[in-house]
Amino acid sequence: MSEAMEQQIFEALRSVKDPDRGQDIVSLNMVSGLAVKDGHVAFAIEVDPQRGARMEPVRKEAEQVVHALPGILSATVVLTAEREDAGPAAPRTAPGQDASMLPGVKAIVAVASGKGGVGKSTTAVNLALALSAGGHTVGLLDADIYGPSMPRMLGISGEPTSSDGQTLDPMENHGIKCMSMGFLVEEETPIIWRGPMVQSALQQMMRDVNWGELDVMVVDMPPGTGDAQLTMAQQVPLTGAVIVSTPQDIALADARKGLNMFRKVDVPVFGIVENMSYFVCPHCGERTEIFSHGGAREEAALLATGFLGEVPLDVEIRETSDGGHPIVASKPDSPHAKAYLAIAEAVWDRITQAQGKAQAAAPRIVMQ
Ligand code: ADP
Repeated sequence: MSEAMEQQIFEALRSVKDPDRGQDIVSLNMVSGLAVKDGHVAFAIEVDPQRGARMEPVRKEAEQVVHALPGILSATVVLTAEREDAGPAAPRTAPGQDASMLPGVKAIVAVASGKGGVGKSTTAVNLALALSAGGHTVGLLDADIYGPSMPRMLGISGEPTSSDGQTLDPMENHGIKCMSMGFLVEEETPIIWRGPMVQSALQQMMRDVNWGELDVMVVDMPPGTGDAQLTMAQQVPLTGAVIVSTPQDIALADARKGLNMFRKVDVPVFGIVENMSYFVCPHCGERTEIFSHGGAREEAALLATGFLGEVPLDVEIRETSDGGHPIVASKPDSPHAKAYLAIAEAVWDRITQAQGKAQAAAPRIVMQ
């Protein structure tokens, strides 16, 4: 990055004031993590966690000021809050943080995979729709901030708006409320996220979005089991996790890593879904087990976790989800949709069990 460009950005940001403290955000040392690449700018504004919502206009103003500079194609600014307890060893339910993040949401389920391309997002969207078909109020948080696919899979375009001027209203289609980085950042924008910015983006999508009352929020996690995923597993007060795997051994080794990651942070793993489990020839109806089907069921038993169901490899599953009409919404009576409905039932059972356990463990208030 050229120093002149950096100077220019900082100069421009001197016009942006912190409304509470009266000075500009540069003098107050609130700008951090400035990154510029091919005319795309990203940086964070550090704020106290309590001031998140109040600082949204400042974030917007900073974005506009930088975007208006010559040679700048895009500006992405996020609010970031330093948390004393955000270290990797922090407990999942750090006092006052996670539990208050989504007060109206009764359960949060992560859909994760050890690696990309196994059908994690396809499973997440169809699971969300199947839970909704089961009569539950469902939200879908696309936490795959590096490669968000929910705008495409739910067939939603445009930008979210705010009806109260403070929080963003989630986007909605097929009866599912959804928030995704894909709504907030242009698809071509290279996302040069630093660690804290990733955390902050996720926090904003939970805290600064008007999710309202939900029976369950499905979280489409980023693929893999690196630090970013671990941090997310810690930051989101997850009720449990669903691991998606293809039947090949190699993918299962990856699935095992995913499972261990959640166990490390004390999130119950509800079980494994075997995706692309087998193939049924559309012409002759013959079933072929391309990747030696059944590995996930055996693996689940071995790892002492549940087996939640299997989904075949089928062109209709791909075409419908990639086309914005996932199969559970567009063909609810098809055998494939029924496979997802059965998985959703199994997941709902685990949610109810986990909630029962949490309630039993909660301290009781005794009236005298
Ligand atoms: P991930 O989230 O794990 O990266 P995606 O859900 O984006 O994976 O799926 C990758 C591709 O595979 C997509 O084009 C999707 O439509 C397709 N796909 C996923 N599951 C199936 C399936 N059961 N049958 C056919 N295609 C599938």
